[in-house]
Amino acid sequence: MSIAKIIDGKLFAQNLRTDIARRVAELKDKKNVTPGLAVILVGNDPASEVYVRNKNKQTIEAGMRSFEFNLPAETSEEELLKRIFELNNNPEVHGILVQLPLPAHINEDAVINAISPAKDVDGFTILNVGKLAIGGDAFIPCTPLGCLMLLRDSVGDLSGKHAIVIGRSNIVGKPMAALLLKESCTVTIAHSKTRDLPSILKTADIVVAAVGRPNMVKGEWLKQGAVVIDVGINRITQPDGKTKLVGDVDFASCEGIASAITPVPGGVGPMTIACLLENTLQAAKNIHG
Ligand code: NAD
Repeated sequence: MSIAKIIDGKLFAQNLRTDIARRVAELKDKKNVTPGLAVILVGNDPASEVYVRNKNKQTIEAGMRSFEFNLPAETSEEELLKRIFELNNNPEVHGILVQLPLPAHINEDAVINAISPAKDVDGFTILNVGKLAIGGDAFIPCTPLGCLMLLRDSVGDLSGKHAIVIGRSNIVGKPMAALLLKESCTVTIAHSKTRDLPSILKTADIVVAAVGRPNMVKGEWLKQGAVVIDVGINRITQPDGKTKLVGDVDFASCEGIASAITPVPGGVGPMTIACLLENTLQAAKNIHG
């Protein structure tokens, strides 16, 4: 049994952030522009607070400006929209991110689409989603962008490969499928209503799992030598009562069949913030010619 190459997303993301810091310094030198990222958090969801803290820390480490807004859970939609319009018009801010999910009384679509598409570094506005769908230049949602970078790095040319994306969310599955199509893969999207996933997976050169079900994809479902990208982040309780993070892919049974595989943690996870910084730098460059 050959053992798959472990795709080290932590190291890849670290190298990417170092390179971004270098390019940020270059932009400051040449154009006197410091990229700025504004992150808005409404309410105090503990997981979101951790994400926002990490984003803030890594933004500053990359030499960018970080603008953090922690708004109370009872913030009205109108107040939030007003804040976004201010940030749209603030020349020091190049990227705007609203941490999801938002409290139930706020219309998420209305808020996301109030962000100027030029500052939409999450790639969630209708304009950027549409641009990606027609294969144009768009801000690409950070997690699928991170997956694509890892895939390009380990596979090289993706053209003609059969890629299966499991999951059809707007945040991961759909943009991932659009990106792979843009790379000239033959793309299959599987989801909760897909019949006989194991036999479909048998034909895949590339598998991207974004489901949210611990250890769902089994090694015997894979084609020998498939490249597996595991987006899932699931916290499970072990028999000893301790919790641990696992992906959507059953790593133990897949590592002997796949040719390369991302671990959880340390695979796709660290790529998301690094790609957010990449998009923010790109936004600053676009805005300042
Ligand atoms: P989601 O709940 O919005 O979507 C899950 C998708 O899985 C749905 O489209 C559904 O149709 C599909 N699905 C459900 N059961 C299935 C089954 N039995 N067979 C096939 N498909 C099935 O989730 P999401 O936001 O896309 O996130 C997916 C996973 O990725 C979660 O574990 C999430 O925590 C993780 N995630 C990680 C990152 C990161 O690494 N930075 C970012 C976003 C999401």
